[in-house]
Amino acid sequence: MPLALLAIGSVIDQKKYEVIIIDARVEENVLELIKRHIKDALCFGVTIITGAPIKDGLYISKKVKEFAPDVPVIWGGWHTSLFPTQPIEEHSFIDITVQGQGEESFKDLVDHLGGGIPLDKVKGIAYRNNGNVLKNPPRQMVAMDSFGRVNYDLINVEKYFKKKGKRQFDFISSTGCYFRCAFCADPFVYKRKFTAIPAAKMGDDLEYYYKKYRFSDLNFQDETFFTNLKRIEEFTKELIHRKINISWAATMRADQGERLDDKIWKLCKQSGLRRLLIGVESGSQEMLDWMKKDIKLSQVFFCAQQCNELNISVIFPFIVGFPLETDESVADTVKVIKQLSSQNPNFETPIFYFKPYPGSTITDEVVNNGYALPSSTEEWGDFDYIGSSGPWVSNEKEDFFEAFKFYLKLGYGRKRGILFYPLRKIGQWRCNNDQYKFPIEKFIIEIIRTNQRLS
Ligand code: SF4
Repeated sequence: MPLALLAIGSVIDQKKYEVIIIDARVEENVLELIKRHIKDALCFGVTIITGAPIKDGLYISKKVKEFAPDVPVIWGGWHTSLFPTQPIEEHSFIDITVQGQGEESFKDLVDHLGGGIPLDKVKGIAYRNNGNVLKNPPRQMVAMDSFGRVNYDLINVEKYFKKKGKRQFDFISSTGCYFRCAFCADPFVYKRKFTAIPAAKMGDDLEYYYKKYRFSDLNFQDETFFTNLKRIEEFTKELIHRKINISWAATMRADQGERLDDKIWKLCKQSGLRRLLIGVESGSQEMLDWMKKDIKLSQVFFCAQQCNELNISVIFPFIVGFPLETDESVADTVKVIKQLSSQNPNFETPIFYFKPYPGSTITDEVVNNGYALPSSTEEWGDFDYIGSSGPWVSNEKEDFFEAFKFYLKLGYGRKRGILFYPLRKIGQWRCNNDQYKFPIEKFIIEIIRTNQRLS
């Protein structure tokens, strides 16, 4: 669900302004829809994540300017938090960008645009003024409990359930993160600050949504959901006392999992926790320390054990191909992945290739060492984060990882059944013996594989 658009759409005064959210993933005839509404619009906002969404953002913003040249086009989201002025400098059809937490800035911006007031006092934005691009001072993070309830009626919730193939409700209960992982842009964007909705308010809001939208699964999109353990304990009790009978999924750091009392682990399970996402990143403690992940591998295994006992699924993502990563470190990562995957078919261990995300300290290092990042907004649109390896992964290593990923899933994945049994055994044998040549099973699976669902 478009949570960023819902968040900013919900804070502006809806007695004064009509908010229309158009999401091309669920709407047809998007250009027609825009054309219909844009003539009377006060502004047009687009939320942008670095990578492929930029291409869509550029296309649609240009179209908007063709339809209504006087309507200001505003970009917000991760990309403009990292690059406040570049999109405006390069594209005459982008007028304003918003940085960081967008709710207050967008509300303020709308009020200024609506009142015809100059934008020089609106904090947390960059904008074009008489041919110059100006960047205003940043806005301090605002506590999330000062915002009202997010208005999901701004979208057609049923369309998202249909698209997902399940009645899964997306929700965000916190913004930012206290941690400092050197591959992540969050510390740059949120300055290692964190704000969260208190458990009692979450209980009120979720009960209201549960009765209204009748969802059966709740998908938290927080970066570090388990930051405040007391809040988690209270939240689980809210779900139980209010009889909100759902399953839920969220992110957890391994160190947070270790700090969580057994009692709270059990409350999580009792209240419906079905899946955690725990970033491991590397199987080498040395690499983890280098990337300032601030977790211990023992904490990862502790969480695995807890989840095994409580029957909670886990996604443990890993990253390979960091600059200067040694073969020993890669071997350690492979070993930890095998240990986790073989413990439980509900433990997934996706492997990603490192890409230098702008705003992270490792990226600053690789740039200082001569790596050229994309130099324009358009080029950032071609910067793909999924599936492609960077220059720090040799072809040989990439071949190895692609084969390893395939056989790991074959050997330890969730697919069961008598017909699948021999393939499963072959996958396990190949992983245990690091034998990935002549992948005939891969061809067979590709023939019978069905399309993957969203989410
Ligand atoms: S990777 Fe997660 S824990 Fe680390 S800084 Fe980013 S959001 Fe925080």
